[in-house]
Amino acid sequence: MLAYIGLGSNLKDPKLQIETALKALNEVDRILVIKISSFYESKPLLDMSGPNYINAVCKVDTSLSASDLLDVCQQIEDNQKRIREVKWGSRTIDLDILLYDQQIISSDRLSIPHPEMIDRAFVMVPLYEIDKEINVPLLGSVEKLIDRVNKLDVKKI
Ligand code: ATP
Ligand code: CA
Ligand code: CA
Repeated sequence: MLAYIGLGSNLKDPKLQIETALKALNEVDRILVIKISSFYESKPLLDMSGPNYINAVCKVDTSLSASDLLDVCQQIEDNQKRIREVKWGSRTIDLDILLYDQQIISSDRLSIPHPEMIDRAFVMVPLYEIDKEINVPLLGSVEKLIDRVNKLDVKKI
């Protein structure tokens, strides 16, 4: 299966946090990281306080189920000492499954496509960078959806 994962960090050397998480993902037997976007800087969501974020998106080829892939993502977050405080608060690392094949999943612990993705420049800009021809199930092509976000919200680093 092909899947896209969004990564974000705004604490403790964000660039290194993302690189560490990408390496950890690729080290999982049944996950192959096949593309990585540039890294992008943005301000915290909704005027939350805290340092700026660094975000990136990767494309993976995996034989894991979406639920097992989420387990891997959460294990990596734990390994990098993510502490869960307020929703959308500062974090060392966040891994969100954006898309999994062309599946639509809505369970207690998993919503795919990731519900907020199409409104976030820090997701859509790197996603469009690595693949121009992605379709978001129910919502349409990334090529069209990219116009919804303000590209000036993110700065390529
Ligand atoms: P947001 O989801 O708006 O980006 P967040 O990333 O800060 O917010 P978290 O605290 O990281 O939210 O995650 C809360 C829960 O979201 C997780 O425990 C997980 O079960 C659930 N979740 C639902 N869909 C997804 C998904 N597609 N990828 C990752 N986690 C998901
Ligand atoms: Ca997130
Ligand atoms: Ca998350």
